[in-house]
Amino acid sequence: MRLLRFGKKGKERPGLLDPDGKIRDLGDVIDDLGPRTVDPNTIDFLRALDPWSLPLVDKDVRIGSCISHPGKFVCIGLNYHDHAEETGIPPPSEPVVFMKAVSSIGGPYDDISLIRGSTKSDWEVELGIVIGRHAKYISIDQAADYVAGFCLINDLSEREWQLERGGNWSKGKSGDGYGPVGPWLVTKEDVIDPQKLEMWLEVNDKRMQRGTTADMIFPVTEIVAYLSHCMSLNPGDIIATGTPAGVGLGRNPPRFLCDNDELRLGITGLGEQSYRILKDDI
Ligand code: ZN
Repeated sequence: MRLLRFGKKGKERPGLLDPDGKIRDLGDVIDDLGPRTVDPNTIDFLRALDPWSLPLVDKDVRIGSCISHPGKFVCIGLNYHDHAEETGIPPPSEPVVFMKAVSSIGGPYDDISLIRGSTKSDWEVELGIVIGRHAKYISIDQAADYVAGFCLINDLSEREWQLERGGNWSKGKSGDGYGPVGPWLVTKEDVIDPQKLEMWLEVNDKRMQRGTTADMIFPVTEIVAYLSHCMSLNPGDIIATGTPAGVGLGRNPPRFLCDNDELRLGITGLGEQSYRILKDDI
């Protein structure tokens, strides 16, 4: 099942894609898609609905982030062998964990304004996990039961704020719009093996990243179990699981985002994102 949110920013309604790929309105069935509605019971209830009975939505409607108001947005750093290699940092022995502000979240086709003065904004295509049940001290074997589904994420990163201005990485990860999530929350039964997904990203039609989740150092189940031992995971929480090689920082010379760049990215079965980069417009 492919769930999504549509409508003006801040006024989105929940929806689903019917078997023809058309958007159907769930707004009269559930309040929203978020922490209170991604639990297994609600997902089962939605799956039992007849999609043809739901109102059809205009295909040109804006698509928002597929999760509303997550409690947290956790990220795993350096989680692909090829990306760790391009950064010159030895692969970590335990997951590198940092937070991205939830205010960074945007829709999958929204233009993105660079952080004011940014000259080192970068891209990171990532597999996102959406948690469906409260998870605390769980094992790797149990982890899949706590996942609601998966989504596409771009963990946009301002490298100067991230790496050159002291403190931890969160400063460079949290700009408004630097966390597009979606277009869809694909529920887990429709993702046969999350460790066998192809992922790619293009800047101005040039392929920059091409990877596979098979290259993860810590796979999805290990990440969920590991995090549950240092923090509670709650329904609606989003985890970005790291990026493969091909980020702008890893190129020689480095290539960072500029005004009018166009980004396009995707992961097998999870849809695509596309948007234009704009200079700070405030
Ligand atoms: Zn990342």
